[in-house]
Amino acid sequence: MEDIYCKQILPGKLKVDIIFETERVMAFHHTRPYWEHHVVIIPKTHIESLSTIPDDYELNRDLFDAMRMVTSLFEEKYGGCRISSNVGNYQTSKHLHWYIHYGRRLVKESESPEH
Ligand SMILES: [Zn+2]
Repeated sequence: MEDIYCKQILPGKLKVDIIFETERVMAFHHTRPYWEHHVVIIPKTHIESLSTIPDDYELNRDLFDAMRMVTSLFEEKYGGCRISSNVGNYQTSKHLHWYIHYGRRLVKESESPEH
């Protein structure tokens, strides 16, 4: 199973445009967006999905700080957004990530690995 976050993005092999970062989490513009405005939030340590997220106060606080920061930015700029995260068979990449997006869909659902 491809884990682009641990293999390419976190080691810096694939450059991303970061909009929010702490020791534990990172938010960046999707390199091949599915929507006109598409941001990804990930933990910097490998966590498979929301169903296996550890009971770690600092990590969870930082994840919610990232979500608040990115969603408020979208709300301010575009009036709103949608946030989603896939679990289990819905995941193409088995590394916890949230998609925050607004605007027209650029990639058909049938052509994107995750919706
Ligand atoms: Zn990973």
